[in-house]
Amino acid sequence: MKLYPIRGGIHPEYRKELASEKAIVVLPMPHSLYIPLQQHIGAPAEVLVKEGDRVKKGQMIARSQGAVSAPQHASTSGTIKAITEVPAPHPSGLPQTTIIIEADGLDEWGELPPSIEDPFVTDPAELRARVAQSGIVGMGGAAFPAAVKLGLGAQKKLDTLLLNGAECEPYLTCDDRLMREYADEIIDGARIMARALGTPRIVIGIEENKPQAAEIMTRAAAAFPMIEVFTVPVQYPMGSERHLVQAITGLETPARKLTADLGIVVHNVATTRAVHHAVRFGRPLLARVVTVSGAAIRTPNNILTPIGARVTDLIDFCGGFVARPESIVNGGPMMGQPLSSLEAPVVKGTSGILALTAEEINDKPTSPCIRCGTCVTICPCGLSPLDMAAFIKKDKLDVSAKLGVMDCVSCGSCSWACPSHIPLVHYFNYAKGVLRDLDAETRKSDRIKSLAEVRTIRLEKAAEAKRAALAARKPAAQSATAEEKVSA
Ligand code: SF4
Ligand code: SF4
Repeated sequence: MKLYPIRGGIHPEYRKELASEKAIVVLPMPHSLYIPLQQHIGAPAEVLVKEGDRVKKGQMIARSQGAVSAPQHASTSGTIKAITEVPAPHPSGLPQTTIIIEADGLDEWGELPPSIEDPFVTDPAELRARVAQSGIVGMGGAAFPAAVKLGLGAQKKLDTLLLNGAECEPYLTCDDRLMREYADEIIDGARIMARALGTPRIVIGIEENKPQAAEIMTRAAAAFPMIEVFTVPVQYPMGSERHLVQAITGLETPARKLTADLGIVVHNVATTRAVHHAVRFGRPLLARVVTVSGAAIRTPNNILTPIGARVTDLIDFCGGFVARPESIVNGGPMMGQPLSSLEAPVVKGTSGILALTAEEINDKPTSPCIRCGTCVTICPCGLSPLDMAAFIKKDKLDVSAKLGVMDCVSCGSCSWACPSHIPLVHYFNYAKGVLRDLDAETRKSDRIKSLAEVRTIRLEKAAEAKRAALAARKPAAQSATAEEKVSA
């Protein structure tokens, strides 16, 4: 199998051995579950229940609203205790509206949609509707509604579904374990997704440091000639969509374009398994596997966790801390976000919870840039991090945009490699946030302007039509008067 090199990248200490040999275990159902309305990119879901309502497992408790959104479901049966503001799994710790379910311990299923008997003869639109209704979002961390991505087949010419099993973030092993333990379900979900997308080919990319997963997935895929499994070099950030596409196909995704513009749609292996459950059994996305790891955790583990369990529930399940955690991270250490509260819930995009000691984190004091150029050499997107950061520091975000800050994939490689310990990626995340907000504002005012223009044109046309109708009536009225005169 021919592979293609990707630019730059780094080789951090992976420390996957802490949890990679731990088979997936199930978290006992917590007493309360905290289900935020916004667990995905797009509009938050709209609440369908009220305090005191009894709900069953799998019941939709908030519906999606807007073209890009996802519904939320009850992860177990119980009573709605409150709908209130709760700290979000985000570094700001800002609260967000959350439905709290008091579990009744029965874990009683509600009515589910019927299973789709033969998805391979089913209308792709029906499959996409099932995925949307099941609240499935990208489980690799991006949390983009999966059904919207599956709809790309209707807009672009696609030929390949690429399953992302790279899992390049240090510590994380949840996808590795899923591939080792549920390969058949992932392969089935992938075939269903290919049907929904209309792609004739499926490619699976797995980093070389997961040889058992690669072997098991290859065996599970053997019966399907449309599926190929690739093992790709261990090189962070291989799991970034555009870099995995490049490594496997040699195609570079142009700036501000999607991999779909190259005919390739990428989905994470956990998302694919969720699609299998939704289509084959009518089950919405109610739980996910989370890697809990780091030197401060007594027993690192891969835990099947109901959506809405709190971080503290997982840490207790792992036996608590054995050392003082310097940082609790939601996700991997490279792209994850520090958590400000252990009360924050696990959401659909939570791949890992890391409790890291001072030795494991790079928080050495920052010193001035020595213009060594390391950040430029390792940037996998071919950017110049030192120049972008310099302009952002001077508040010249427009210049940083010209230098390509919006093409930064926030992989954190530059920050990791910088000998001056400059937190470069923080500058880029800040700039991207501000530029996105400005862009949204501009688009909003452009939209208002164009709506006003459309209205003006419509009113002018209506006035013109009225004038024309009046003009057409005038001669008739004049001749009628003439006729009246003659007959009189
Ligand atoms: S790696 Fe750090 S010190 Fe070196 S050029 Fe980049 S920002 Fe400056
Ligand atoms: S965080 Fe952005 S600028 Fe830094 S290496 Fe990654 S892609 Fe390049």
